[in-house]
Amino acid sequence: MFLFSTHDAEELLLPSAAEPAIMEAAEDPKGTIRTDSVLIADDDPISRSIVESHFRKWGLNITSVSDGLSAWNELQKPDAPSLIVLDWMMPGFTGIDLCRKIRARRTKRYPYILLLTSRDAKQDLVQALDAGADDYLTKPFHASELQSRLKVGSRILQLQNDLLKKEGQLRHEAMHDRLTGLWNRGAILDFMNREIMRAARTRNSMGLLLLDIDHFKSINDTYGHQAGDEALQQVAERLAKTVRNYDWVGRYGGEEFVVVLCNSNADVVANCAERLRESIALAPLRVCGMDLPVTVSVGASISTSTDNLLQTADAALYRAKALGRNRVEIGW
Ligand SMILES: [Mg+2]
Repeated sequence: MFLFSTHDAEELLLPSAAEPAIMEAAEDPKGTIRTDSVLIADDDPISRSIVESHFRKWGLNITSVSDGLSAWNELQKPDAPSLIVLDWMMPGFTGIDLCRKIRARRTKRYPYILLLTSRDAKQDLVQALDAGADDYLTKPFHASELQSRLKVGSRILQLQNDLLKKEGQLRHEAMHDRLTGLWNRGAILDFMNREIMRAARTRNSMGLLLLDIDHFKSINDTYGHQAGDEALQQVAERLAKTVRNYDWVGRYGGEEFVVVLCNSNADVVANCAERLRESIALAPLRVCGMDLPVTVSVGASISTSTDNLLQTADAALYRAKALGRNRVEIGW
């Protein structure tokens, strides 16, 4: 996904190709840098072309600009490089201006900024770091040092990628039911509340369905919990396939499911409820190698006729059970 690999030091070493004079012999000729992209902004064409030639050799995808404004515009693009090498003095915005502007954005993805400049006073270094630069290298630079510093940047960015990935996994786990892959109770109730508010705001209506697998306990008791789990998974799959793609399906708990029907009037809610009931009853489930006829009872409610959708749907579900199961009852 991003930049040169940091897990294998061998891969980060340089090729043996001849280097410009600026490249020092310290570079190891064994490997190449693998990477995605870097932005270089420098108004000095000679300095820029030297840096570009290194980047090219190290396998970087290069976006190269000659002023601060162009750099800023490049950074607004969704696929903008996360590794940024900035000259200090440039028309448009200076490197320091850009550091401040980049940090002020507070984007989720943290770009790594290396300031590359001929200014070498201690207070310049301090000013650059204070402005938001992560690192600082003075011209003329040794190519091997630039490369090493870019590797540091790539390690930081790779760590960030790992964290974002982990965060995404945790968010997914926090919102999904592990067995069925549907939204879990907390998530589906959040969606329900959001849809209720949206329906009120837009003067539309929305519906809620509670579905309960009939005689589920007997599946567990007769065929074991593995069969019960498989039945839950297959019912979940059928429900998810049957709803419209903008509706929400979640596991409410046990053998009970919730469907949030967005922007739906009473007819739509009744039709969806019936379609979902049918999707389960029409063909037996295939559970532990057996064909297992399963049905669901459904209680429905709609936002225009009740203040408490869950309670109303639950009462309707209770009626559906009492009236013989495998049926839909509407709570309005
Ligand atoms: Mg300059």
